Formats: sequence, structure tokens, C-alpha cells
Amino acid sequence: MTTPIWLKDIECKCCGAKFKTPRLKPSALVVKNMDSDFHKTYDSVNPMFYAITTCSECNYSARNEDFEKVLLEYHPEIMKLAQGIKTSGKIVKFSQTTEVTLDDAVNKHLLAIAFYKCFKPENQNTISGLYMHLTWMYREVEDVEKEKVYLAKSLEYYIKTYEKGSFVPEKLGEPGIIYMIGELNRRLGDNNEAVKWFARAVQHQQISNFSNIENLARDGWEKITQEKRKAK
Ligand SMILES: [Zn+2]
Repeated sequence: MTTPIWLKDIECKCCGAKFKTPRLKPSALVVKNMDSDFHKTYDSVNPMFYAITTCSECNYSARNEDFEKVLLEYHPEIMKLAQGIKTSGKIVKFSQTTEVTLDDAVNKHLLAIAFYKCFKPENQNTISGLYMHLTWMYREVEDVEKEKVYLAKSLEYYIKTYEKGSFVPEKLGEPGIIYMIGELNRRLGDNNEAVKWFARAVQHQQISNFSNIENLARDGWEKITQEKRKAK
């Protein structure tokens, strides 16, 4: 099998630097399994490791699909942050090869989150998604403590997405966001809060359009009921 990872030449929209970044051919991905919080495991390579592009000169970082697309001239706050990193001399170095370590992937995500938090308006759903990547990367190496740290951060941003009602992804809809709030609470051990949100998801007026979400919410609820039964 030829390698599914290739190096893409990129020009940074922030500082103009030219660098290479590893990308993954989506055709190489075969999903093996999916967790109840949408964490997918794959047969060979892990796409999360290749999801972020980071400039080698100013550390501007974004999801691959945003890196070259977002017009930064309309976002002086982003240019300022990148400029600040560049002049501070605190650049994080990444190898410009096809090898990506867990540390690299984590650092790229943390940088991307720092930049997305500067965008106005802030897209909370993107930030919760990036925190979920960190959650899953730590789950895969069985670092339970760090997994929980990022579960909690992701939860915070799903709640913000729900409260604001903007940037709700079509695929999940509002019921999906509500379900995720329930599921992350459940995974963090707050069963009472989880049940409240699962109930809210299955009673949602749009739930008939999201039958997979309804099933997941009922499953999550059932897991808690069974746990309570066992505890008695
Ligand atoms: Zn740059």
C-alpha cells in the first residue's frame, strides 16, 4: 500500500512564510468503530493527527479546511496574535515531514484553539470540536485524567454553542448539541445533569429529523438507569 500521507506546500496567510505540512488522503480512512460521543477509530492512520495546519514561522494554526480559506485581513486580532508569537521568539517548532507525534498533534490543537478563541465572532462549535479531538487523542493512549480535562472544556463550549444558538452544525442540529451536553456530563460522572439533557434532546421539537441522535440519547439514558439499578 502506498503511504496515505503526503506533504502539501502552504503559504501562511498570516505572515507569508512558505512551509510544508502533512496531509492525509481521506480515501485511506476505514472506520473501525465509533464511540457514543462520535469518536471514530480507524484501521490504520489517525486523521486527528493531520487535522491542523500550523505555520512554522508564526505558529498561526487552523483546521486544514480553514487555514488557506479564512481571509485574515478581516481579522486583525489574529494577525496581532501571530505577530506577537513571532516576535516573542516562543515559536513551537514542528517537523515538516510526514511524521506527527502525539505531542505535535496536541500542540497544534492547542495553538489552533488559542487562535479560534481570538476570532470575532467566536465559533464555539469549532472550539468544542477541537477540544473533542484532544479528548479522543488522550482516550486512545488511556490517559484518563487528561481525557477528562478536555471533556470538561469541550462541554463548556457545547453549552456556549447551545446558549448562543449560532454555528450549530447541520449534521447534529440543536438536538445533537443537547445530546452531546448530556453525553459529556455522563462521561464526567454527572448522571443527574446528563439525564436532564438527554430528556431535553428526546423531547426536542426537531428530534424527528435526527433519529440517530434520539437513539443515542435513549441509549445514554438507559446506561444511567442500568447503573442505578446495579448500585441498589
Ligand atoms: Zn505564519
